Amino acid sequence: MGELCSQRGSAQRQGHMAKKVAVIGAGVSGLVSLKCCVDEGLEPTCFERTEDIGGLWRFKENVEDGRASIYRSVITNTSKEMSCFSDFPMPEDFPNFLHNSKLLEYFRIFAKKFDLLKYIQFQTTVLHVKRRPDFSSSGQWEVVTQSAGKEQSATFDAVMVCSGHHILPHMPLQSFPGIERFQGQYFHSRQYKRPVGFEGKRILVIGIGNSASDIAVELSKEAAQVFISTRKGSWVLSRISEDGYPWDSVFHTRFSSMLRNVLPRAIVKWMLEQQMNRWFNHENYGLQPENKYLLKEPILNDDLPSRILYGAVKVKPRVTGLTETAAIFEDETVEEDIDVIVFATGYTFAFPFLEESLVKVEDSRVSLYKHMFPPQLEKATLACMGLIQPLGSIFPTVELQARWATRVFKGLCSLPTEKAMMEDIVTRNERRIDLFGTSQSQLLQTNYVDYLDELASEIGAKPDLVSLFFRDPKLALKLYFGPCNSYQYRLTGPGQWEGARRAILTQKQRILKPLKTRSLKASPPLPASLLLTVMGLLAILAALFFHI
Ligand code: FAD
Ligand code: NAP
Repeated sequence: MGELCSQRGSAQRQGHMAKKVAVIGAGVSGLVSLKCCVDEGLEPTCFERTEDIGGLWRFKENVEDGRASIYRSVITNTSKEMSCFSDFPMPEDFPNFLHNSKLLEYFRIFAKKFDLLKYIQFQTTVLHVKRRPDFSSSGQWEVVTQSAGKEQSATFDAVMVCSGHHILPHMPLQSFPGIERFQGQYFHSRQYKRPVGFEGKRILVIGIGNSASDIAVELSKEAAQVFISTRKGSWVLSRISEDGYPWDSVFHTRFSSMLRNVLPRAIVKWMLEQQMNRWFNHENYGLQPENKYLLKEPILNDDLPSRILYGAVKVKPRVTGLTETAAIFEDETVEEDIDVIVFATGYTFAFPFLEESLVKVEDSRVSLYKHMFPPQLEKATLACMGLIQPLGSIFPTVELQARWATRVFKGLCSLPTEKAMMEDIVTRNERRIDLFGTSQSQLLQTNYVDYLDELASEIGAKPDLVSLFFRDPKLALKLYFGPCNSYQYRLTGPGQWEGARRAILTQKQRILKPLKTRSLKASPPLPASLLLTVMGLLAILAALFFHI
């Protein structure tokens, strides 16, 4: 597909009327889409239903309909160097994993730096996005919005849907017979804010995603007992990896991605199990995944194993029934006096403002080409952004999606035929199920480096390692064996950034900077006499060994 893209920049279009793009939502997907529109010389207008930017990452004490809701303590599970936008590294002194308020601060600095706020209409909800009658020739959309009770309609040449997919709770009450009798309190994880009011309670958390484990750990510090119920178990990783580096800067390298792709599946699976069990044996902790060979998204939690070790959290199997006060589990054990049940059972998604046929979920697959484009449209003028769950950070992923989408809208890149796109959707989905399984929580899952490279190839921004090796071997080796960060996609092609090389070579510095808060005196050198004695002893040992 990369060859279908022209390398001509925005200057080439000077003299043409800039295309108007509607961006729906001012979360991270909306912000980076805005920036990419501006970079490509498009004319964006962003509609945001709330009064501010940040989407999911803007914590609020109350839960609002139609908006993602997080708990006070959420900390990113992808590190700053792997999560920043490709031409805008996070400030050096930012911690490696960020509290939600700190990440929001980064988005605010980003929006200010690229002057994005002026494109956003706050407190404006998109009600409908409809194809105009002449769509097959114009590709245009009618966007109907509501603000202060007033409806307005405007025509756009393209639409970027950035409305998020962690808004609608998946609440599978039908799988919990007896829930109607249960006399305690129960709610979805999106309602949870902080551990106040749970002191001394016996709490059951359902699910073993990142929400379930974060909430179980936090509540276990206040509650009398926390149980976490899982149907299939999960690998648990620490944010801290080899030598104390962030897990994703070690896990997501081109080299390890290549190994995972070329080695026989059985070996990859074996290696994965070794890697996952290095910290603690998941079988002993009752966490081992039912199908331990799936690459299903692991949980990132530094405290869960220790809370289990202290007995503050107990791992239980699937719930088969509930009574007024008790939970019954698959292994026929019963836990009495349950006060609270937290359903950390994930999310579903919907786009109520779009025609129903545009984004369908059928046979457990989302009908979007490369997770973005509805294949059946005569004109590729609508893209869904961030409707994906990569094994790595979503932020650089959405950025590349936006760089590609804006070039498609401009006509600098084209999509294949509807038939070819449909075939790709089916094959991609089969691959997804094979790698990650059929669980609802894995519906949007995708590999990380492979997907980034695929998007970058579409716009001609994928680095060519072979030629780079001859021009700049130091950089090429960093690209291959070092963390696959977003800066790599600014070395070449449209949107090249002159700071990219330096950002790649100085990444370690930015990782270590926030850790070096206590200056250490350099250790004094060994006295010369001690060095001479050690060298003498080594010489004698060598002489004895080699019978000199
Ligand atoms: P959102 O942040 O949900 O923003 C959508 C915006 O659209 C909102 O501002 C909303 O008000 C607006 N909107 C919606 N509908 C309309 C409408 N009709 N009209 C106008 N505006 C509308 N990913 C990572 O990579 N790293 C992490 O560490 C990480 N941690 C996470 C932690 C939690 C608790 C959760 C739930 C997810 C996490 N994710 C993480 C994934 C997450 O999806 C992304 O981080 C990201 O926030 C998604 O951004 P978004 O802009 O697509 O959606
Ligand atoms: P999730 O990852 O979708 O996990 C949902 C969990 O609920 C899974 O364990 C699933 O089990 C279980 N479940 C679903 N239906 C069930 C049923 N009928 N009965 C029993 N169990 C059921 O949801 P999430 O944890 O809310 O996470 C959503 C996204 O936000 C993820 O991408 C996650 O990484 C992210 N997140 C990040 C952080 C962080 O950065 N700190 C914190 C929270 C969330 P099965 O697997 O068996 O289906």
